[in-house]
Amino acid sequence: MKTIIEPFRIKSVEPIRMTTRVERREYLRAANWNLFGLHARDVIIDLLTDSGTGAMSSEQWAAIMRGDESYAGAESYYRFEKAVQEVFGIEYVIPTHQGRAAEHLLCQAYGGSGRLIPNNTHFDTTRANIEASGAVALDFPCIESLDTTSDFPFKGNMNLPALRACLEENRGEVPIVMVTVTNNAGGGQPVSLENLRAIRALCDEFELPLFVDACRFAENAYLIQQREAGQSERSVEDIVLELFSMADGCTMSAKKDGMANIGGFLAVRNPKLAQRLREWLVVTEGFATYGGMSGRDMDAVAQGLREILRPEYQEYRHASIRYVVERLAASGVPVVLPAGGHAIFLDAKRFLPHLPWNEYPGQALAIELYLEGGIRSCEIGSLMLGQTDPKTGEPLPAARELLRLAIPRRTYTQSHMDYVLEVIEGVWQRRDEIRGVEIVEAPKVLRHFTGHFRRTKRAEEVTTA
Ligand SMILES: *Cc1c(COP(=O)(O)O)cnc(C)c1O
Repeated sequence: MKTIIEPFRIKSVEPIRMTTRVERREYLRAANWNLFGLHARDVIIDLLTDSGTGAMSSEQWAAIMRGDESYAGAESYYRFEKAVQEVFGIEYVIPTHQGRAAEHLLCQAYGGSGRLIPNNTHFDTTRANIEASGAVALDFPCIESLDTTSDFPFKGNMNLPALRACLEENRGEVPIVMVTVTNNAGGGQPVSLENLRAIRALCDEFELPLFVDACRFAENAYLIQQREAGQSERSVEDIVLELFSMADGCTMSAKKDGMANIGGFLAVRNPKLAQRLREWLVVTEGFATYGGMSGRDMDAVAQGLREILRPEYQEYRHASIRYVVERLAASGVPVVLPAGGHAIFLDAKRFLPHLPWNEYPGQALAIELYLEGGIRSCEIGSLMLGQTDPKTGEPLPAARELLRLAIPRRTYTQSHMDYVLEVIEGVWQRRDEIRGVEIVEAPKVLRHFTGHFRRTKRAEEVTTA
């Protein structure tokens, strides 16, 4: 059949509250023009993140009832551990309440001042954890990722010459290499097996462990199956096992490809490292057989890790994202190509060419999509990723100004996506009138979460004022 359907029926529903444009303006003003400050009930379609926002299956809800809440040695833990070991092929499993707690533990082992940790692109919490430990987080995205219009199939890849140069220039200062699959900040784009093999070879040459940020491992593996030469006949499970066979460990947020609302883990091959990590785990997260999770959460993740690998689920997931991306591209809206794994990325620099980077075009666009149709999205540009020049202290722009519309798993239907398309097209029609954004006040780290913003005055308002 040509039509790819949602491979599930809906058993439980949650009403959406409709709002007017006037109401939305008021809500946004009260939230200091920061969409993270909105009440979720005031959002019509919530594409802020795909993290923990997906729908659980009837089997996951059943697993929740089986949850064993014993403090030590709960059956839920053993089911969770077995699922992680079978899916990823990594032996020692350390449960955490979500991904960033796993990153924090990894940084306790490998971070610290004077150290450098390279990645294709660090996720914002990974960067924050590395920097909080005193180390420096370095991004080496492949050159192809900078051109948002090309259809290069593996824009998540690491820039190998840049990684090699970094390892040569900083011998003894790089404790581990990381790679994020899929590359979130880089547009939800996959990393190829070929690139991973080359990263592994560099790690072997420089005798360094490789850690994978595994949050969207199944989406990355599906895109390898679809796009990489010689992979089309393999199962997603099999590709996942090969991918992680190259890693010494991984950090995982179960809120993404764990199909759960909370949870995460760190998995490692080295028993001595596992021992140290468990000693730290008990101080901040919990005992070794639950970390930061309840028994029922571990059971939901164990079940979710199996469901994410189902071919019909992956086929539908990618078809629904491709559907939106292809329609936007056909109407000339600047969208990152090719369609990535979990989100639609608008290129705000090309959408709003009249706004300079320090008027945060991505945030300006996020505000307009909310005003137009109550859609909540997330800027991934100079607001989230902008750095300060270490020498002058001046703010620096990010490489790209993107707006991410993340699609929660199994949550919205095709008509919701048609509505999203209509809202984006409405904003596209009046793009020339859109105003920029300035920062009123913001913390130093992760400022996009809690910063206060305001809209800049339009040029003609300034001159008449
Ligand atoms: C979400 C995410 C994290 C952090 O996980 P949390 O569960 O939100 O703490 C790390 N890396 C990537 C790529 C992510 O998408």
